[in-house]
Amino acid sequence: MTVIRALPIELINQIAAGEVIDRPSSVVKELVENSLDAGARRIEVDIEQGGSRLIRVRDDGGGIGEEDLLLAVAAHATSKIASFDDLEHVASMGFRGEALASIASVSRFRLTSRLQGQERAHQLEVDGGKLQPVRPAQHPVGSSVEIRDLFYNVPARRKFMRAERTEFAHIDDLLKSLALARRGVEFRLSHNGKPVRLLRAADTLDQGLLRVAEVLGPEFPARSLRIDHAAAGMQLSGWVGLPTASRSMADSQYFYVNGRLVRDKIIAHAVRQAYADVLFHGRHPAFVLYLELDPAGVDVNVHPAKHEVRFREQRLVHDFLFRSLHEALAETRAGALPDTAG
Ligand code: ADP
Ligand code: MG
Repeated sequence: MTVIRALPIELINQIAAGEVIDRPSSVVKELVENSLDAGARRIEVDIEQGGSRLIRVRDDGGGIGEEDLLLAVAAHATSKIASFDDLEHVASMGFRGEALASIASVSRFRLTSRLQGQERAHQLEVDGGKLQPVRPAQHPVGSSVEIRDLFYNVPARRKFMRAERTEFAHIDDLLKSLALARRGVEFRLSHNGKPVRLLRAADTLDQGLLRVAEVLGPEFPARSLRIDHAAAGMQLSGWVGLPTASRSMADSQYFYVNGRLVRDKIIAHAVRQAYADVLFHGRHPAFVLYLELDPAGVDVNVHPAKHEVRFREQRLVHDFLFRSLHEALAETRAGALPDTAG
């Protein structure tokens, strides 16, 4: 005889955590995206032992009120969407309302926050999914989330964590990719108490290029072309590397759709085609590109980690990308027709 049972909520959250929280960098991604959604201008990330001992993200965003602290760590509770219609137009990084509940179910979790306009801050601790009572605390407007002993109660996951250096390198890469998406936000990263990275807020394009150089290397700006194209309700901007900036690995490719880093077959194909006759076989272009389009034209609810998107008008997006990049690269193309671009 089979017995069907409803699962306890802690277990439901741990199962959900299995989908999106697979290593320390995925925790950092969720926490920093929350800080960005909260309108933070400064975000500080402190890591100890590659994140296995401590991940702390502090922000100066709008904060969370006392009454909302418990909801923040409840599964399927979010302040970002309220209806199916909102889901169709979602502009925030988060919307599933699952991250904090998932993370808190596989770690020792502490959230301290002060809501804008409030005198006092409050703190909530969760230990492997078990909630402790909310209590008053000291904190400026904004939030701090501290994750200790990630996966301490999930031995199988803990075993899969790599060397401290490897996990930290993943965190650093992730932070760089988020920092490229939000040039106007200051990011600080430290490891085991030592400052590792400081990315100052960039208001102008020139300052923005400094941040690009920090991520893609100091020689990239001089070996790249500025892109700025608009058509059919879409806008493409950023920098594409000249053939001299190409790499033997596809590790310097940043493509953002409405501020979200994505990997997508349609995009990859359009880029490859645009570069086809200017790059040698086995070389990969370097680029930082930002595609902006109506959120209704792109579905981000394809995968829990949201690395994938689905375009409503795939062909249109593909052709727009291809044409913009192909034109920009025209000068570097042997035998290109002069003065026909426009
Ligand atoms: P989601 O981001 O999908 O809404 P999360 O579990 O990541 O789900 O967060 C739940 C809620 O907690 C958010 O909707 C937001 O209201 C609140 N929250 C989380 N982190 C922060 C933060 N750093 N600042 C302000 N609010 C936050
Ligand atoms: Mg979130």
